[in-house]
Amino acid sequence: MTGPTGPSLGDAGPVTVVGGGPAGAMLALYLARQGHDVTVFESRPDLRRVDISAGRSINLALATRGIVCLQQLGLLERVHAITVPMAGRMVHSDGTDGAGVDFQAYSNQPDEVIYSVSRPALNGILLDAAEATGRVTIHFGHRCTAVDLERRVATYRLERGDTVEVAFGTLFGCDGSTSEVRDAVVAAAGGTVIIDPLGHGYKELMLAAGPGGSFRLDPNALHIWPRGEHMLIALPNPDGNFTVTLFLPVEGGPDSFEHLVDEAAVAGFFDRQFPEVVELIPDLVDQFLAHPTGKLATIRSTGWSAGDAAVLVGDAAHAIVPFHGQGMNLAFESCRILDRLLRDQGYAGDLAATFRAFEASRKPNADAIADEALANYVEMRAGVVDPRYLLQRELALELERRHPDRMADRYGMVMFTTMPYAAAKERSERQQEVLDTLTVGISRLDQVDFARAAELVETLGPLPAWE
Ligand SMILES: Cc1cc2nc3c(=O)[nH]c(=O)nc-3n(C[C@H](O)[C@H](O)[C@H](O)COP(=O)(O)OP(=O)(O)OC[C@H]3O[C@@H](n4cnc5c(N)ncnc54)[C@H](O)[C@@H]3O)c2cc1C
Repeated sequence: MTGPTGPSLGDAGPVTVVGGGPAGAMLALYLARQGHDVTVFESRPDLRRVDISAGRSINLALATRGIVCLQQLGLLERVHAITVPMAGRMVHSDGTDGAGVDFQAYSNQPDEVIYSVSRPALNGILLDAAEATGRVTIHFGHRCTAVDLERRVATYRLERGDTVEVAFGTLFGCDGSTSEVRDAVVAAAGGTVIIDPLGHGYKELMLAAGPGGSFRLDPNALHIWPRGEHMLIALPNPDGNFTVTLFLPVEGGPDSFEHLVDEAAVAGFFDRQFPEVVELIPDLVDQFLAHPTGKLATIRSTGWSAGDAAVLVGDAAHAIVPFHGQGMNLAFESCRILDRLLRDQGYAGDLAATFRAFEASRKPNADAIADEALANYVEMRAGVVDPRYLLQRELALELERRHPDRMADRYGMVMFTTMPYAAAKERSERQQEVLDTLTVGISRLDQVDFARAAELVETLGPLPAWE
């Protein structure tokens, strides 16, 4: 690591965060706790005072990586109050295999659960906490439209249409997957941006609570209706509602968004694929036609920082598809790691080196979880009803029980640890070879040769450390 060769954060002028979403709000709070005065510019109105529009990703799965940050920031209790724990997947099969509803626990440990949380409520808690430090000023209705890194000036368009230029010393680009800041930073750094559309989109629907705010599905599970090439999921909200999301190819045949453009097509599709849900959401067709269709893509970029002038954090640097429920958790973890690097005395006085170290540390992990998220789509829409997948998952959990220091289930390493994502992915691949070997020619757990299993698991060595 380098010695003190350049300015520290704040020396070159105001500390600015563009974007007051999950990453921007959390980062502003971390920076304020370091003693910096921070100004946040957010394009939208204050979500604590206005309703967010229906149909836009309303709740999220919060897991250990995000929880660790909230705990560090003293916010866990407040967030806990607005969450619903989900202990596993409730798989609603299409009935063709005779199966009905199958609960698949996420973990052997009862306390290893994920939490459904309202996006605006969580974001609001972070904004409140940032402001409560007395060091964070938030300007809503300020859309960043240009960043001049040479002059260290950013341009913002205000809600009423006029623009202002505001100087910054260091700017943190937390403006999400369509980041304006990214264009300037990546160009200055000579980096690249690769946007890989999934070809599948999503549509959100609301399944209203029953009488007296009762849940009309089991509230402590993430519900999945897997249908091979597409799927429907439902996450509980504390007030008894469920947010239901359809993931479907954008185009190609009757089972695609391209085809679902009128009442008859939508009603026919749901009657055929999800009759159970038709009964639960009486105004399903109206909601479907009224709500926007969201796009999904993986964005991989390089060149996350421009000297000590600007750095990208969160979806602005790395957007992933939502199937592992990790985009926000990844963004939160990035805030925690950046906070640690900024505090690290080894980097004192060399902000540009700190930012380069941040990218070096986070990029391989962002790439790894991007791959895992894509793989999890196949697992959720098809794997969860595949007998071979189910046997291997049962075996993985059993081996984890028998050899807790040598084996950890793939899903659990992502959701319930802070092992670097890249290390967890590499480990999963090696463990998969063991699972493949042990399940050749068998169909039940009691047919596994556990003596052989113990030998194979021993060769894996210790599990990756948490960071
Ligand atoms: C359908 C869906 C489901 C998801 N489910 C999960 C889940 O279960 N778990 C999980 O961990 N993640 C999930 N994610 C991912 C998660 O939403 C993102 O990873 C997370 O919101 C990233 O936070 P961010 O602050 O980096 O970006 P964003 O949430 O996009 O926030 C960016 C902020 O910047 C503002 N902004 C944008 N442009 C500008 C500009 N030019 N100037 C000023 N402000 C600007 C925006 O208004 C916004 O407030 C899901 C995503 C989708 C689409």
